Amino acid sequence: MMKTKKKMTPSDPAPGKLRPEKKNERAADKTSPSPTRAEKRQTKNSGKPEKRRSILFDGDKIASFLSPAKRSEPVKKGVPEFARQDAVKAKKTPSGRSAVKETPKEQEKSAAVPSGKSKKTSAKAAAGQHPSKSADPEKVTAPVHQRKGVRAAQKKPTAAKNASLPVKEEPRFPTADGKLRIIPLGGIGEIGKNMTAIEYENDIVVIDVGVAFPDEDMLGIDLVIPDVSYLVKNASRVRGILITHGHEDHVGAVAYVLRQLNVPVYGTPLSLGIIKGKLKENPPPQKPDLRTVNAGDTVRLGALSAEFIHVNHSIADACAIAVHTPLGVVYHSGDFKLDVSPMDGNVMDLVRVGELGREGVILLLCESTNAERRGFTPSERSVGSSLERIFTQYEDNRLVIATFSSNVHRVQQIINTSIRHGRKVAVMGRSMVNIIDAAVELGYMDLPDGVLIDVADMKRYKPEQITMITTGSQGEPMSALYRIAFSENEKVKLGANDVVVLSSSAIPGNEKLIGNIINALVHTGVKVVNDSVEAVHVSGHACREELKLLMALTKPKYLMPVHGEYRHLAANKEIGEFMGIPSANIFLSEIGRVLEIDKNGARFAGTVPAGKVLVDGASVGDIGAVVLRDRKNLSEDGVVAVVAAVALREGMILSGPDIVSRGFVYVKEAEKLMENTRKTAQEALARMLERRVSDYAEIKAELRDVVAKFIYRETKRNPMILPIIMDA
Ligand SMILES: [Zn+2]
Ligand SMILES: [Zn+2]
Repeated sequence: MMKTKKKMTPSDPAPGKLRPEKKNERAADKTSPSPTRAEKRQTKNSGKPEKRRSILFDGDKIASFLSPAKRSEPVKKGVPEFARQDAVKAKKTPSGRSAVKETPKEQEKSAAVPSGKSKKTSAKAAAGQHPSKSADPEKVTAPVHQRKGVRAAQKKPTAAKNASLPVKEEPRFPTADGKLRIIPLGGIGEIGKNMTAIEYENDIVVIDVGVAFPDEDMLGIDLVIPDVSYLVKNASRVRGILITHGHEDHVGAVAYVLRQLNVPVYGTPLSLGIIKGKLKENPPPQKPDLRTVNAGDTVRLGALSAEFIHVNHSIADACAIAVHTPLGVVYHSGDFKLDVSPMDGNVMDLVRVGELGREGVILLLCESTNAERRGFTPSERSVGSSLERIFTQYEDNRLVIATFSSNVHRVQQIINTSIRHGRKVAVMGRSMVNIIDAAVELGYMDLPDGVLIDVADMKRYKPEQITMITTGSQGEPMSALYRIAFSENEKVKLGANDVVVLSSSAIPGNEKLIGNIINALVHTGVKVVNDSVEAVHVSGHACREELKLLMALTKPKYLMPVHGEYRHLAANKEIGEFMGIPSANIFLSEIGRVLEIDKNGARFAGTVPAGKVLVDGASVGDIGAVVLRDRKNLSEDGVVAVVAAVALREGMILSGPDIVSRGFVYVKEAEKLMENTRKTAQEALARMLERRVSDYAEIKAELRDVVAKFIYRETKRNPMILPIIMDA
């Protein structure tokens, strides 16, 4: 498994992957294919066992809709040519696209012209009329118009448009008396700190444990994490934490959460590799129980079981998770895009997704990051051609390329291009070095001997023989690029002969930081290339057409958009409606809000505690001090910190509690309120020490609770409460 992953050079696709054939096929599709083509394919395919697929699909057309070229061949046999072309046109899924070089224009085209049917609907949509309003009730339950079109075209080509289509078989959801509860604890109404609990009767599974901040590199050292008090309270029922992928907004809070909740963590090798790094820096009191899974694996978790499904994303080894429940499948999309020419050759497992849709997806938790963006997200591979152009254009310059350290495939492309252009590679930035080490060790990166050089050895080479890969593409102060730009790095000085490439796009909010770096660089004569100059970055998230595809395949009964700010969630809801999911079945939620599903339907049913945001130093109690920084993005109600030093063993308060607030009230005018808050906190703390509570997490949770309630009662406001307890 890992061994095949090593093959990542573009010229050498992993065995069994489809790029070359696909390219040919596309050319053939465009012109009139020769009659021998089908025969050729037949022979080509005849020798290959198609294990799971041929059994499960048995000639089903969905296979041709979904899957890469090779899979689709058998079902095309015997289909009249014009119908087949129709079908190809109608599909326009990314799997029908050229694998390697598709120009943006072509993508636009494919996005804009779906099947005849959806063309009509999109025309309506374009005319400002909401498609779902015009859809008749029957279509409303049939979000698979594209697939139907394909089917009809293949069965009765002449009547494709007005044929009475075969009745769509409704997935038969299992019936059970229990209640399924979906509890988002983060990632809704925000980009970051993704965490969702899925609960069925006595069993809870948790998907992801992120920190707040978008994907990839993190700013600063503070952690903004989900409030997990609900899970702590129900710890005995929590069967495990399932990790979709290794980005900070999905794993960043793991060290903190494991302190309070000692449960097994399931993830793919790279995700767990990243988690191990975090736990090493910040070890929990007990030995963490990390369990490696691979895409395709299913783990049992009480009455639930979780299946990991391979998806494409801007980090390797990313998965969607299908939680099988007694009421049907809850499909969590994870972060995904559909890349039909991914760097590692592994296309998202659309076939399995389609199978799940057929089995019955009761709820789709669908990421919303790019729900506002039209079309398809370009392949990661397209960045390769941009890099190639840059390397050619600046062959006489030293190149410094900043990107997200977690984007292993991007880093690989930079390395590959460097090798082709005879350059050595120097790596700067702790997280970049760490992730490259982990990725090479786990087999996700291919780094031939002698390519990597030490930063200190750079002076032995000419500038044009060197590529530097660094962190800092988001302008993070303290990052390698920042220090270089502001001449704070002893070893590296940039000047007029250097070119800096920012292979990233600005995470909202970071524009100014990035601008500062660019200005500083340009000031010293450095040439800066970013994504406004060259296509040096592609998103890792699905755009509208990809989201539609996911909905078409999963055919969910209910939809809950996740992973996005409210506008993204709302845009995703519209996509769901466009795909025929009734509005009443789409739930725009918020963190802490419980969606309850049972055999009678779905509805919101109350809330669980889920603080707006929670900042905590993961090292409280270990190093005995926390540096708090004001953060402009704190909740509107400000922040109230309760600071105290205690001697836990003796059950004594040594100092404090002191109340420190920012952005909450003007302290001078609210002295009484602050004093009463202090008293409340002191009493609560004293009570706990008397009870001999010795667990920090518990003390902090209770303190937070008591103070929050008091402040709310007095002011009707909900500032963030930060208990900071030091054991002296
Ligand atoms: Zn994410
Ligand atoms: Zn991600």
